[in-house]
Amino acid sequence: MADSMDAAPALEFEGAGAVYGDGTVAVSGLDMSIARGEPVAIIGPSGCGKSTTLLMAAGLLRPSEGDVRVAGSPVAGVRRETALILQGLGLMPWKTVRANVELGLRFRHEPADTRRERAAEALFQVGLSGFADRYPGELSGGMRQRVAIARSLALDCDLLLMDEPLSALDAILREQVQDLLLGLQRRRGYAQVIVTHSIEEAAFLGRRVLVMAPGPGRVVAEVGNPGSGDRSFRGSEAFYAACARVRRALEGAVGRA
Ligand code: ADP
Repeated sequence: MADSMDAAPALEFEGAGAVYGDGTVAVSGLDMSIARGEPVAIIGPSGCGKSTTLLMAAGLLRPSEGDVRVAGSPVAGVRRETALILQGLGLMPWKTVRANVELGLRFRHEPADTRRERAAEALFQVGLSGFADRYPGELSGGMRQRVAIARSLALDCDLLLMDEPLSALDAILREQVQDLLLGLQRRRGYAQVIVTHSIEEAAFLGRRVLVMAPGPGRVVAEVGNPGSGDRSFRGSEAFYAACARVRRALEGAVGRA
């Protein structure tokens, strides 16, 4: 049993669906499987159920049909080793950077010295060691983004879910934080799912890019992108070819909708 659980994918949707209280069928018949340690990007037109899919994966929304499993077990509420970064980042402006990074550990009732140690390590990894006593309002957008990433790292997650985390950043900063995400994911080896509107971001960060379409939301195409995973990929022919493949798949998804 333990062996089969170890071999189970990091995240699996099997015929999964979600219906909101007003009867909106946001997602239906969703199938996808993400391997342990695999970085995947999800792209699709607005309203196709990307955020809903992440909420189900994070255990914040119960599927109305089908199964959602993390590491082989059905998702039943929020899980310790799953981290979620939302667009708004969820930083508390009245708490210091250190306290924000420690927040998830505090919810887990980790002792104070463990919290300090993990937060210091996570802030070091995102290059913010000198900013632990600052407040989010004193930092740039890119730095705030890195605080949110540090908070997830401190949790020592095996699955990192991100919903449009970089959309508020300008182009150069956005690429810097993409590089950081890429490096951390490779070093730490967690499975990573990033929802994005950006074709370039999907092609840079996704070893596979899953394309969703609405009516109701489901995965309609998959673009393999095995050459990704290195900073130098961004300027390469293979990167531009991957962007073109994602664009075609996305146009197909929009056409279908
Ligand atoms: P995406 O992230 O791809 O933009 P969402 O998952 O946010 O898509 O939304 C999918 C569908 O579900 C849309 O039609 C949206 O209007 C609807 N929806 C999202 N959240 C709610 C909610 N809380 N109540 C009702 N409908 C919702």
